[in-house]
Amino acid sequence: MKAFEWMVGKFSTDMGIDLGTANTLVCVPNEGIVLNEPSVVAVRRGTNEVLLGGDAVGLTAKEMLGKTPGNIQAIRPLKNGVIADFEITEKMLRYFIRKVHNRSVMVRPRIVIAIPSGITAVERRAVINSAERAGARKVYLVSEPMAAGIGAGMPVADPQASMIVDIGGGTTEVAVMSLFGLVHSESIRVAGDEMDEAIVNHLRRNYNLLVGDQTAERIKMSIGSAAPLEKELEVEVAGRDLMIGLPRRTTVTSTEIREALMEPVMDIIQAIRTTLENTPPELAADIVHQGITLAGGGALLRGLDVIIEQEVQLPVRVAEDPLTSVARGTGEFLDQLDLYSRVLDSSMDEAAA
Ligand code: ADP
Ligand code: MG
Repeated sequence: MKAFEWMVGKFSTDMGIDLGTANTLVCVPNEGIVLNEPSVVAVRRGTNEVLLGGDAVGLTAKEMLGKTPGNIQAIRPLKNGVIADFEITEKMLRYFIRKVHNRSVMVRPRIVIAIPSGITAVERRAVINSAERAGARKVYLVSEPMAAGIGAGMPVADPQASMIVDIGGGTTEVAVMSLFGLVHSESIRVAGDEMDEAIVNHLRRNYNLLVGDQTAERIKMSIGSAAPLEKELEVEVAGRDLMIGLPRRTTVTSTEIREALMEPVMDIIQAIRTTLENTPPELAADIVHQGITLAGGGALLRGLDVIIEQEVQLPVRVAEDPLTSVARGTGEFLDQLDLYSRVLDSSMDEAAA
């Protein structure tokens, strides 16, 4: 490394960002995860004006979700797995970058951002522009499954297949990788959000009880499962009775919630099947030995590994700390940028193209 570059590096906070549909995480080399907040922004309804002078982002904004008075709207700009709202996404990204980047430091950081593999060229450009406007001196994009694989310690650089299933909020990404490339990937818009929605529908249909997404998510986390539990669980739920219009509570069991979650879980398994069917035979043989790794928050659903193993007849393991795999992967990219930069999409390459 040239002396000047070394000096510049010394004075900037390079960062890796997992721009997730549910959560955004920032990883800084030698420090680890320094930011972990919901991908939520609160705006004045019908405008792109972020509340609290631009600070109603992340944790602050999530607390407003579902509880907002009429003139305030909490937005998840990446909710459906694509950038649904460019302008809000940019404001969110900028807020997080500024929060991490020490403003007293004059040198602009290099930033690695993990993005869904199904994102369009226009969306890639938008992410790069946002990060540049937020002060990045150079932006590198890496596909989310690749970052997840690296973060989960998989041998993605080797000439052998690694299969990862990253189940986030808005999307599930299934990918087979080898030699730093995606051999085949499937991205479906069925993940944690769809599970929450399935729970909302179940309660409405069977109990005439209307609950919000946040409540449904809490039910999923506390008693949700994909395979039978040794000891089935139950939880008390409060919502609004659709018949009488008043608040009411009821008790739901893990057995019925599992039933409700069956459809999204089966959709995820189908995406895994499709990916396996599209994997060349030599690489498929590797997967038989190496198995499948689950990452993302959805991987924490009880028994998901068990049901996938049963359905596809391959070994399945959950990555260690699956919620941070992608972010830690972007951090490793930064650590070894010299090695990785040729496989990354960078702002400079794009400008030249
Ligand atoms: P993204 O990468 O899209 O931001 P994450 O990997 O952060 O998503 O995962 C968020 C999803 O994981 C949410 O839908 C959340 O409800 C779900 N999740 C988190 N913890 C659990 C859990 N213990 N059980 C089931 N789902 C979980
Ligand atoms: Mg993710």
